[in-house]
Amino acid sequence: MYNFFEKIRQFMFGRNGFDQLGIALLVLYFLLNFIRNFFWLSFGWVPFLVLLLLLILFFFRFFSKNVWKRQKENEMFMKFWRVIQKNIIEKISNAVRHAQDPVYKYFHCPRCRATLRLPRNRGKIDITCPKCNYTFRRKT
Ligand SMILES: [Zn+2]
Repeated sequence: MYNFFEKIRQFMFGRNGFDQLGIALLVLYFLLNFIRNFFWLSFGWVPFLVLLLLLILFFFRFFSKNVWKRQKENEMFMKFWRVIQKNIIEKISNAVRHAQDPVYKYFHCPRCRATLRLPRNRGKIDITCPKCNYTFRRKT
C-alpha cells in the first residue's frame, strides 16, 4: 500500500493538482449533473458536452505540469470569485438588515433604482426621489 501511494506521489510531483479553480470546476460539474438528473432535463448533446468539457478541463488542470500558468488561471478565477462573493453577500445582508429595520422602510426608486429610506407607518404617501425627482406613491 505504501508503494502505491509513493507512486502516486511521484506521479503528481511537479503537477498542478487541486486548487480553488479545480474545486470550482468539480462543484459546477456535480451541480449541473444533479440539476440535469433531478429535472430529467434532456437538451440533447449540449449538457452532456458541457459536463464532459468541465471534467476534461478539471483533469487537464489537475495533471498539468505547467504549474505557473495554472496558478495564473487560479488567481484570475479568485479575483472574479471575490467580486461575486462580495456583491452577493453585501446584497443579502443589506436586504436582511433593511427588512428587520423597525424604524425605517426602504424603497427603490422605480426610475433610477436609488435606495430611499422613509419612516415606517406614515400611511400611503407620495415619495419624491431626491436623485432624479421622480414621484411615486407607496405605503410606508
Ligand atoms: Zn430616482
